[in-house]
Amino acid sequence: MITSLKTPLKNLTRIGEITAGRMKTLGLATVEDLLFYYPSRYEDYSNIVKINQLKLEENVTVQGQIISINNKLTAYKRQQITEAAVSDKTGLIKTVWFNQPYLLTKLKEGDLISLAGKIENDGFGLTMRSPEWEKGGGRVHTGRLIPIYPLTQGLTQRQIRFLVSQAIEATGEIEEWIDENFQFSIFNFQSNPNFQFLNLQTAIRNIHFPESKELLSKARVRLKFEELFWMQMRKAITRHEIQKSSAPVLSFKEKEIKKFVKILPFKLTNAQRKTAWQILLDCQKAIPMNRLLQGDVGSGKTVVAVMAMLNTALNGYQAVLMAPTEILAKQHFETVCGLLKGFDVSVGLITRSSKKLKTQNLKLKTLPRRQAGTTQNLKLIKFIADGKVDLIIGTHALIQQKVKFSKLALAIVDEQHRFGVEQRKALRDKTGAKCHSPHFLSMTATPIPRSLALTMYSDLDLSIIDEMPPGRKKIITKTVAQENRQKAYDFINKQIQQGRQVFVICPLIDESDKLGVKAVTTEFEKLDKQVFPHLKIGLLHGKIPDSEKDEVQQKFVKKKFDILVATSVVEVGVDVPNASVMMIEGAERFGLAQLHQFRGRVGRSEHQSYCFLFTDSKSQNVYERLDFLSKTSDGFKIAEFDLKLRGAGSIYGTEQHGLQEFKIASLQDYKLIELTQSLARQIIEKDPRLESFPSIKKRLNQIGGPAHLE
Ligand code: ADP
Ligand code: MG
Repeated sequence: MITSLKTPLKNLTRIGEITAGRMKTLGLATVEDLLFYYPSRYEDYSNIVKINQLKLEENVTVQGQIISINNKLTAYKRQQITEAAVSDKTGLIKTVWFNQPYLLTKLKEGDLISLAGKIENDGFGLTMRSPEWEKGGGRVHTGRLIPIYPLTQGLTQRQIRFLVSQAIEATGEIEEWIDENFQFSIFNFQSNPNFQFLNLQTAIRNIHFPESKELLSKARVRLKFEELFWMQMRKAITRHEIQKSSAPVLSFKEKEIKKFVKILPFKLTNAQRKTAWQILLDCQKAIPMNRLLQGDVGSGKTVVAVMAMLNTALNGYQAVLMAPTEILAKQHFETVCGLLKGFDVSVGLITRSSKKLKTQNLKLKTLPRRQAGTTQNLKLIKFIADGKVDLIIGTHALIQQKVKFSKLALAIVDEQHRFGVEQRKALRDKTGAKCHSPHFLSMTATPIPRSLALTMYSDLDLSIIDEMPPGRKKIITKTVAQENRQKAYDFINKQIQQGRQVFVICPLIDESDKLGVKAVTTEFEKLDKQVFPHLKIGLLHGKIPDSEKDEVQQKFVKKKFDILVATSVVEVGVDVPNASVMMIEGAERFGLAQLHQFRGRVGRSEHQSYCFLFTDSKSQNVYERLDFLSKTSDGFKIAEFDLKLRGAGSIYGTEQHGLQEFKIASLQDYKLIELTQSLARQIIEKDPRLESFPSIKKRLNQIGGPAHLE
């Protein structure tokens, strides 16, 4: 049979339904899938050594003839073992396999065999325990760098390696898309010695069965390039799509904006001025802005957003601000109304449970409910559709409900990592009739290392608030070992006596407890009954209905509770300036970036604030990480540190952004990331329909590119 890329795996030699089914669970159905399924590491058995030259502890391949082979049952533990003696002309070595009695049907005395593994001494001479083996001179399991794949239960390395060895025949069909035209005439990037890429076929062959370490490392570079380049192409196309549509030109209303800045209760930081200016400048263009405003918790993003919203209203257009939780939306609503008191604008609030409108002089109009029992209020929605409301603030309800804008020019999403791509797109698509696409601003408090920004947010422009408002006190952060727990409790008691409030965050204990209900409830009972029986304690977790969540948070804001115990799932997003202690249980279970986010919930007032990191762990590694957090208050440094230590997954919110799709590239591949981004942007800017890059266009369609290229 001729193996081709499209051959189903089940048609390969020696694969049964069961194995094929297991391959399916790895997402592998065809030969092509398998070829693009890369090993996670390699064992180096390329050193083929004569038996009399063997050294202890070395990983090698030995080739010889089976002198004897038999099964026996050990007395101890009654284990089935298979023992063989193998000799080449220079000497003899013993091998032993465990619980594989069927080996006796495959291996016979007199067979030539290749064995790969570590050389040991069992007290009676040289031996290999459970070596890889194959008959004859073999080049699949022994005698080379052999691939080790990420597997699922029931599959063995031997099976998958055997399948790959068949699949490899089909590499000849893989088409190279880096053609002459691309390589030489346009970007000439291959003249850079860092980026002389192996061709795709050779790369695929060598990623599975490397001919040498050098070729393996070249293969890795080529396949990383492959992965990053196509990702960047998709981003570049999205970016171009957005830039292609037109957006309303919002001129800079200098006089009013100056007035806004003047009546603020504080002086803007330089970073706020700079980022606000970048945003206002973008909005003056007829191309939709697509910008990410990044700034640590408490750096003052809201006021920057409000400035842009005001400028939009002054131009006669609408702006919308979407927040991830109801309570945040309400807080924003109050903030916006407060900051805009002196201006002639109307502001609406739309969440599931409340619809409010503050008009011109920002007097509250409570809209009558349409009928008892429903929160649907057609009136506000109608006002918005008629363009009578300038600024609209809300939650998901904004996209879920039938909200239509009449002239939306600016859409802002707060804590954007919590919204999926779809939700952001839905918001973007809600523009009224007058303009094609609104300007779009995402805001996030998650500091993103640059390599991550260049991949995950490659379709966005970045504005960074890298400066905190003056006068913020550093949050004193301490790792607390078990034996000092009581001291921390005493301290908390004192803080509460002084009128402060305290957050307690609990991690998820196990997988079965996805919402963390168990952990947080246990902690709540303990604190409520044993540790602080005299205090009022609130409880918040993922199972509590949204409306009650709100109530609990509001009560905390209003000081009805001294302590709020919550799961990380809930991510207390509200501003409670009076809270001065953040206490985190099982701190070792969180990424540093996330711990930093939690910590940002305190330290929002003149009171000195504290963050206590509790851990039972005795690991040095854990202490180092937590220690780093204690010493560092710069979110960027923390994120970079965590990225190095734990990979991208530790950076909060990356799950939704497809980063786990990287099979071989990583965020450490900074040079390749930069190169691919710039290549992809240049290509798309030069020729967005890829007419002059037929091989790129073809490949993009094969691997599922954006629809407009088809
Ligand atoms: P975040 O960036 O986390 O969204 P906010 O916009 O909520 O931060 O601002 C945090 C607090 O800092 C708010 O109470 C806000 O009024 C205040 N603030 C913002 N900018 C300044 C500034 N330049 N000087 C002093 N306080 C500021
Ligand atoms: Mg904020």
